[in-house]
Amino acid sequence: MIIVLRPEASEEQINHLVEKVKKLGLTPHISKGTERTIIGVIGPEDVLRVTPLEVFPGVERVIPVLAPYRLVSREFQRKDSVVEVGKGVRIGDKKVVVMAGPCAVENIDTLYEIAKEAKKAGAVVLRGGAFKPRTSPYAFQGLGEEGLKHLAQVGKDLGLVTISEIMDPRDVELVAAHVDILQIGARNMQNFNLLKEVGLTKKPVVLKRGLSSTIKELLMSAEYILAGGNFNVILCERGIRTFEEFTRNTLDVSAIPSVKMLSHLPIIADPSHAAGKWGLVPPLAKAAVAAGADGLIIEVHSHPEDALSDGAQSLLPSNFSNLMQELRILVKAIGREI
Ligand code: PEP
Ligand code: MN
Repeated sequence: MIIVLRPEASEEQINHLVEKVKKLGLTPHISKGTERTIIGVIGPEDVLRVTPLEVFPGVERVIPVLAPYRLVSREFQRKDSVVEVGKGVRIGDKKVVVMAGPCAVENIDTLYEIAKEAKKAGAVVLRGGAFKPRTSPYAFQGLGEEGLKHLAQVGKDLGLVTISEIMDPRDVELVAAHVDILQIGARNMQNFNLLKEVGLTKKPVVLKRGLSSTIKELLMSAEYILAGGNFNVILCERGIRTFEEFTRNTLDVSAIPSVKMLSHLPIIADPSHAAGKWGLVPPLAKAAVAAGADGLIIEVHSHPEDALSDGAQSLLPSNFSNLMQELRILVKAIGREI
């Protein structure tokens, strides 16, 4: 870190600060200019969270040099991480992995119908919420354990990897027993107890960006999971809240290459929750893949008009299939596969 001192900082104040820095186990390097003195400090910057050096007399500013996240950073690991979510299904590799399915598991027959179509079109992971984080307490809350069982059954029968949302740290064992990938939704990105709990498992986790979270906050949340010992984390850009009201959220396409720059973790995109309107889903999906997304998670429903949640943003299987066709052409141009 770099400590910038005030122009009027006295010798005594500087010495006091240098002593404190040494006591913290850090090494100070003092540079005296004609106007200002700055102190370059070498050593782990974590101590700053406990001892804020800004409060010392004579200090104007403290500039951290390293990112506050460590395990998720590119500095920690230069090479891209690849997360294996099922036999032969690897996220972060050359192949763009497409996850598709209804917003919520409604009943087993509808799930079968959707899953068959999704698989035929090229999806390899089946999505379906059993615990739904609904804005209204009166809206459909999901089938709970029954929904997880349906998802596991259909996934097994059709040979699809499964993903479902977990909202409560007490449900980790239950959800992990039925599905291949744990999804942490936007509303729970900073549910730190949940992050710690999934960090104790080895299950792959898709961590979605919070509704109003910065990229740094997303990476800090991922750090919780890695710090617990679980390195199988996949990030997900699903749109953030902006002043725009036409779309449900604003897909932050720039977050995809930004995450790639800052972190070794794979990142996928969810154009459905970003758009809120099915007609916008295909162009956003293509934009995300063109920007380097390692996968997509897309809501597909055979009868969107009857869907118990998010029908308006769900693609009909035929539209999903057309999108997959277009993506097959697109990935060739960027040296990937699908
Ligand atoms: C979902 O995937 O169904 C969902 C609720 O997504 P998000 O957490 O991104 O809103
Ligand atoms: Mn949804």
